[in-house]
Amino acid sequence: MLDLESLYKLNYPMCIICSKKAGKFDGCIVNTVFQIVPEPPMVTVSVNNECLTHQYITDGRAFTLSVLAERTPLEFIRKWGFKSGRDIDKFEQAEYKTGRTGIPIVLDNAASFIEAEVVETIEVKTHTLFIGRIVACETIDEQKIPMTYTYYRDVKGGKTPRTAATFIAKKKPTDNLKQGANNMKKYKCLMCGYIYDPAVGDPESDIKPGTAFEDLPDDWVCPDCGVGKDEFEPVED
Ligand code: FE
Repeated sequence: MLDLESLYKLNYPMCIICSKKAGKFDGCIVNTVFQIVPEPPMVTVSVNNECLTHQYITDGRAFTLSVLAERTPLEFIRKWGFKSGRDIDKFEQAEYKTGRTGIPIVLDNAASFIEAEVVETIEVKTHTLFIGRIVACETIDEQKIPMTYTYYRDVKGGKTPRTAATFIAKKKPTDNLKQGANNMKKYKCLMCGYIYDPAVGDPESDIKPGTAFEDLPDDWVCPDCGVGKDEFEPVED
């Protein structure tokens, strides 16, 4: 038996990873980061192959990691973790500085940062492990407590996007339940692209298959990014 939920007991730091390509910057949130070698100091990070940031790291051969503090607002995490650099410019209102590799280091809500040059990549199915030799690292604010993935999920009530290495797919409904919900409209989250399908419901929030979007409780939130019902619009067939 695979009790995938038990994997939430593994803990990770919540970080913004940035890179650059052809003079343009991109960044997103990752949590699968760890140091692998003390000398020379090296870190590794797992990034989904579909993420724009993956392309940038592959091209730029370097990345920066900003370790986020516990007090980082969820709104900030949604912007960096659930929106794509293909749709918005995440650096427009961000405070950042440029590192030795020319890659931006996000300073907003950051406790520390790491800058690394890629020395090896390992492709693992849907994700790539980038192994980087650290060329700079520094504590930005001693007072800031770094946010762990467990803290993000359990204390802040944060969600995990589909592209994350730690994402757990939800169970599929039975065909019987699907049939009853066939005429109900699907709704799309404007923040992260999650689609609420009445045939599936939302098992994580105990919403049974066959529940129309209109019948969801007023305090229901997107299971992927946590925004409310007013951030959804119907999906036209
Ligand atoms: Fe969402």
